[in-house]
Formats: sequence, C-alpha cells, structure tokens
Amino acid sequence: MDLGLNGKRALVLGASRGLGKAIAQSLLAEGATVFVAARSLDKIEAWAEGMDAVHPVKMDLSDLAQVDDLVNKLLGEGGVDVIVNNSGGPPPGTALAAERCAWISHFEAMAANLFHLTTRLLPPMQERKWGRVISITSSGVEQPIPNLALSNGIRSVVVGWSKSLANEVAGDGITVNVVMPGRIHTERVDELDAAAAKRTQKDIAEVAKASRATIPAGRYGKPEEFADVVTFLASDRAGYVTGSRIRIDGGAIKSI
Ligand code: NAD
Repeated sequence: MDLGLNGKRALVLGASRGLGKAIAQSLLAEGATVFVAARSLDKIEAWAEGMDAVHPVKMDLSDLAQVDDLVNKLLGEGGVDVIVNNSGGPPPGTALAAERCAWISHFEAMAANLFHLTTRLLPPMQERKWGRVISITSSGVEQPIPNLALSNGIRSVVVGWSKSLANEVAGDGITVNVVMPGRIHTERVDELDAAAAKRTQKDIAEVAKASRATIPAGRYGKPEEFADVVTFLASDRAGYVTGSRIRIDGGAIKSI
C-alpha cells in the first residue's frame, strides 16, 4: 500500500527516544522529511546520524519561547503537513497528592503548549487543504491508571481539544486524531515499573510480569507496532479518519 507520505514534511515532538523516535523512524521509512524535536540534540543525533531526511531541532515543551522559535522556523519554510504531538509523561502520583503547581506546569508542557504549536502551524495546512494532527495520550483517558493522576487528568483535556479541533478543520482536508498507547515497551514503561517495584517493595521483573498479565495480548507492545498505526493515520490513505480516539493497547482497556 502506498501511504502517500513521500515528500511530506512531518514534525514529531519528544522524539529522542521511545514512541516519538519510533514514529519518526517509521515516517522516514515512508519517504517523509521529518523534523525531530527534543530537549537534547545529542540523543537525536545518536539515532539519526547520516540520515539526510532528519532535521533535529532542540525544543523544550515547557518553554513557550522555544516552542515559538521552532514554529517560526517551520513557518518560514512553508510549515509542515503532519504534526505528531508527543510529550514527556508526568511523574506518578495520586490525585490526593498532586499539588496545584504540578497541575499547572505539566498542563503547560503536555497540553497548552501543544495546542499553541498546533494552532500556529495549521494555516499552511488549511491553505494546502491537507494536514494531519495526531496526539499521543494514554489508555488512561478511557480507563484511568492508578497512581497516574496527572497523566489521566491532563491527557483527557487533550482528547477534548482534539475532538473540538477535528470538527473545526475537517472541511480543510485536515484530520485530527488521538492515539492511546497501553503499555508499549519503552524506557518510560521500564521506569514506571521500577517506580512501582520500589513503592510496593517487589522485584521489577515480578511487577512487569503482573502488568503483562493484565493485558489480553499477554505482552507489552513494541514501539514499531505503535508507530505503524500512527504512520497510517498520518498517511493519505487515512483521510476519512478524524475526531477519533484509537487504542493501541493489546486489548488492555476493559470497556468496549
Ligand atoms: P518516553 O519518556 O520514553 O519518551 C518521552 C519523550 O518526550 C522523550 O523523547 C523525552 O525526551 C521527551 N520529552 C520529555 N519532556 C519533554 C519536554 N519538556 N520537552 C520536549 N520533549 C520532552 O515516553 P514514551 O513511552 O515514548 O511515551 C510517549 C508519551 O506517551 C509519554 O508522554 C508517555 O507518558 C505516554 N504514554 C506512553 C505509554 C507507553 O505504553 N509507552 C502509555 C501511556 C502513555
């Protein structure tokens, strides 16, 4: 299947590792030019060395000035066709323990600044009558994950924003969707398992085994499996998929 991504320009945020990196690599394999943003250029350069279609850009999502600098640079070059909104996950913790300042700072980096970046990058897509906006959230928006209150709360806001935007730009040939990972095996998942092991005074392997057992597929997903779905949503072939939440979770979410 030709996904029609050859020559398209994509921006992938939070792509120094994990899901962002896998998505950037998948889009590159389909012939897209990819602007790969992260706080550390070293980490991007470590995996992207020698790849002409990769354009590493340094950007901290918690810093609005850096977000605007990146947007200005991209708009000066005609903008992008595809935006993959991704951010770092917040620290684990309960709703009772989460303080106001944590809600605000994580909301900025995980939501408000992504909304701002997307809105500013939309006009060239609207002019070209083609665009894709895909935001990575979490299975926690459908089935809140214990001890991840900041994530459950803030990512639900991203879903509401995404659906609102989808309705507003569908007529311009722009699709806007949310993808919901459920335990895709990245360093973040290993870090969360390590934190759970420490909290419960169990062995990490034991915690990971118990977590895998809650997933009908019986395993964690691979970053490439996740990236394949995102790449399809970014493609020309997915032009009629918009305003949706797509689960990539091995069946982990219990509801239908
Ligand atoms: P990860 O922590 O491995 O990668 C996150 C990426 O975002 C990294 O490249 C990191 O450097 C970057 N980042 C962090 N803070 C940033 C900032 N302020 N500015 C710019 N970049 C920043 O996580 P992942 O497993 O690849 O997941 C990606 C997102 O999806 C995370 O928000 C995570 O919480 C969420 N998520 C992942 C899963 C999963 O199964 N892996 C499940 C639910 C939610």
